[in-house]
Amino acid sequence: MFVQVSFPLPLQQTFFYCCPQPIYEKIQPGQRVLVPFQNRRLTAFVTKSLPKLPQDFPANVALREVLDLIDEASLISSELFKLSEWISQYYFASLGEVLKACLPPKINIQSKKRITITCAGLDAAEHSELQRLSPKEKQILEILAKRQNLGIGQLAKILGSRVTEGELRKLASRQYIQIEQVLDTKVMTPRLQLFVSSNPNTIEKLPSLKITSLQRKVLEHLSSVQQPFLAQKLLAQLGISHSALKSLEKKGLIELSWGRLDRDPMKGLEGISSSPQHVHTEEQRRVLQELYQFQQSNTFVPVLLHGVTGSGKTEVYLSLIERTLDQKRSCMVLMPEIGLTPRVAQEFRNRLGRGIAILHSGLADGERYDEWWRIKRGEARVVIGTRSAVFAPLLDIGLIVVDEEHDPSYKQQESPRYHARDTALVRGKMGNALVVLGSATPAIETFYNAQTGKYKYLCLASRVLSRPLPEVKLIDMRDDFKASQKRSVFSTTLAAEIKERLERKEQILILLNRRGYSASLLCRSCGQNLQCKNCSITLTYHKAKDRLLCHYCSYEQKIPKSCPRCSSEYLYFLGEGTEKIETLLEKTFPPARISRLDRDTAQKKNAHAKILRQFQQGETDILAGTQMISKGHDFHKVTLVGILMADQTLSFPDFRCAERTFHLLSQMSGRAGRGDLPGKVFIQTFHPDHYCLKFVMQHDYIGFYEKEIRFRRFMHYPPFTSMACILVRDKSLDIAAKLIQSFAKLLAQFADSQMRVLGPTLSPLAKLKNEHRFQLIVKSKSRLKLKDVLRKCLEQGMTEGLDLRKVHIDVDPVNIM
Ligand code: ADP
Ligand code: ZN
Ligand code: ZN
Repeated sequence: MFVQVSFPLPLQQTFFYCCPQPIYEKIQPGQRVLVPFQNRRLTAFVTKSLPKLPQDFPANVALREVLDLIDEASLISSELFKLSEWISQYYFASLGEVLKACLPPKINIQSKKRITITCAGLDAAEHSELQRLSPKEKQILEILAKRQNLGIGQLAKILGSRVTEGELRKLASRQYIQIEQVLDTKVMTPRLQLFVSSNPNTIEKLPSLKITSLQRKVLEHLSSVQQPFLAQKLLAQLGISHSALKSLEKKGLIELSWGRLDRDPMKGLEGISSSPQHVHTEEQRRVLQELYQFQQSNTFVPVLLHGVTGSGKTEVYLSLIERTLDQKRSCMVLMPEIGLTPRVAQEFRNRLGRGIAILHSGLADGERYDEWWRIKRGEARVVIGTRSAVFAPLLDIGLIVVDEEHDPSYKQQESPRYHARDTALVRGKMGNALVVLGSATPAIETFYNAQTGKYKYLCLASRVLSRPLPEVKLIDMRDDFKASQKRSVFSTTLAAEIKERLERKEQILILLNRRGYSASLLCRSCGQNLQCKNCSITLTYHKAKDRLLCHYCSYEQKIPKSCPRCSSEYLYFLGEGTEKIETLLEKTFPPARISRLDRDTAQKKNAHAKILRQFQQGETDILAGTQMISKGHDFHKVTLVGILMADQTLSFPDFRCAERTFHLLSQMSGRAGRGDLPGKVFIQTFHPDHYCLKFVMQHDYIGFYEKEIRFRRFMHYPPFTSMACILVRDKSLDIAAKLIQSFAKLLAQFADSQMRVLGPTLSPLAKLKNEHRFQLIVKSKSRLKLKDVLRKCLEQGMTEGLDLRKVHIDVDPVNIM
């Protein structure tokens, strides 16, 4: 008997193993098994069990045997398994990697290298001068002599540098060390805590019991709380030690037992206010009526809910969820940045209680693990989360909401490169669910699908309580320069408006979508920006750290005294980021209270929640930040939004750059005037004639869409063609260049005249993390054809022995870098 498995690694291949009878009998698709692979033991996912090997299986291959079953039953439902197969095929992703995304974090068992020193090794360490050892080898042996055996990671840590396979093999070949594979069983587990409960009759007997007053206090306290009660909490509340409990247990009056205590991701976020349930507006009622009707059908209905900012989409979702729960079906809500908008999470928690689970990447592994299991056990029947929550183990989903469906963060940029919105649609289709895509500025593709009738279309055209949309004005920075004869960050108009709001005690948001203090360090002599050592990216100056940082890898360095290229000392900081904006605001508008939200200030857990809370409660006047301040926030006192350098993204080499800019500026504008006072938005730009800005100014989504869709049709871009980007990356420029050439040849061999292949070219991001990058873009009118051709290229590439691990296929790319 045999099984076919896939590893949770970026390998598209599957592998066959023999399977002992007792294991074979239990096996289901999606179950995890432990198998030998090369000289390691790894977790693999069963994709199929077979009584016989396929006929074309080569006869001379000796198969190895499955070692063990890790899950007693598959943790992946047949529905999720089917979905994973779809993702794997559609996105050319490893099925094992997709299945891994369906499970909680840190639960895969695998073996790790362990290095033990031998007697000969001990001897060599002692008499190292007699051996021909390199300084590093000597150091390794000396460390091991002290510690006997170590994991490879631990060794590297003590050594303070990487240890390579080669170095270890050399020592092993001289018999100084032994390398073995041991199973690493440090996997995530539930958190167990001691709980106390009083035994039956204890309370009634209480008056007649002969016990100390302290013990009596414990029993009385217990009778007043819900049992079993957390022991630690009880001890803390009464200020007593553990021994009091022990003696009560001995007397048979109480029972101590281990119980699960789930880690709650919302802990620490208290104090963020959320709004009460509202009486629906006329528009909300109308939209809900239609949605209820769709839901009644119990079939797959995809809907675009196009609602302007502040139209009360959240309220629509909540009402729809309540209706779905009444029908005993479960709900999934995807949001791009739920970790950044604690208000929304709080609102869901207030309305739906602990019956909701939250999943996002900001959670600790333990929290994610516990939330996953609460969903799996059916304790939480509503999930709100980011991209990967689309894999939540919910059963019988009746409703899927994808909020801000246009957001590019729904596309995973690493393998498996799935799009969560599109995956949600497929999951909804498989499970007969209502799928609501919500946005104030739908993705061009989505709106097109609504126009062509593929999706139903519902619209919330105005803000709640007849609040007006904010007035948006463009400030031409060329005029500002002419008038003031100096280059200023805040135009005269914007500065005056800020002053006015501060005097009126209203709040202000300032957006600059670039973090750091100065954008770059320029050498005046040779004209070069200081670049990252590992990437083709300009380094950004961060003042708090007083260092130059690369935003793409972890590289950082001190500010050099002279240019590394030409040794000139004329180095100048150029351009500003949010860190500098914060300083400038402080200087220009004292005594305004200013805070900043970007990846730097939000680094610590719950730090962003604190910044947002302070702003919401009026403890700060101005909040400056990156696009993080544009998302989903609902501050009622904000009457002014200032957007600096709005056009910096308009010149990116990506056909979606206008759309991106339109989304960001519209979302950001939408933060103004959400309370009783009307809002105003000022957009500073050097290109006030750009159509994108014009449409933002007029809140004209349809106008923007029509212009954009014409361009897409004319240029053969999605939604009129299917697109894939093939990226090759490698440390060696030569290898990468050759490989992309070989792939281009394969494409030329299989593609027909209906398809267009652009490239190969260097990627816009030509070097990243020390890897050189080349790309090919493939466009095809027929999606089937595109898939078919790529499949053929991969198969042929495999036959020709191309190193396909270096070839990354991105289907429906959202970011061509
Ligand atoms: P959107 O997501 O569409 O931008 P939100 O869902 O954040 O809008 O709602 C905007 C604001 O309107 C929130 O403060 C919300 O509490 C409020 N709101 C929603 N529905 C109503 C209603 N029917 N009556 C009054 N206020 C409402
Ligand atoms: Zn220079
Ligand atoms: Zn870098």
